[in-house]
Amino acid sequence: MRERATTASGVDARPETTAAMASSGTSGGGGSPGSPCGACKFLRRKCAAECVFAPHFCAEDGASQFAAIHKVFGASNAAKLLQQVAPADRSEAAATITYEAQARLRDPIYGCVAHIFALQQQVHACMPSLILRVHEITTSTS
Ligand SMILES: [Zn+2]
Repeated sequence: MRERATTASGVDARPETTAAMASSGTSGGGGSPGSPCGACKFLRRKCAAECVFAPHFCAEDGASQFAAIHKVFGASNAAKLLQQVAPADRSEAAATITYEAQARLRDPIYGCVAHIFALQQQVHACMPSLILRVHEITTSTS
């Protein structure tokens, strides 16, 4: 799971999303007690102790990340998406939801599917040389 995200981010040079999410996760998300998480900061509401967004949207970068999520998915839908996932997987889900939302804002037609298509084309383009290499290796060893 983590490898796939790293590979995708390495190819299209967008490691900021997962990196920012990872750092927000390790920095305690919601930050100091009393200060809202990035999502609640954006929504201008009080951040409850059980806030589903708090561990994944830090007070600094989280608000701008959540702005994209709010615009594309809506806050309550994003909360439902996270609640449907096991707590251990929520950080990764928050990162990918952020990525999808930001991609959709950048490209209203294709969203993150544009990246999927580009990666599929790269795989397709690499296939002949890969087949050739495998053939060279198998014929040289036998
Ligand atoms: Zn919150």
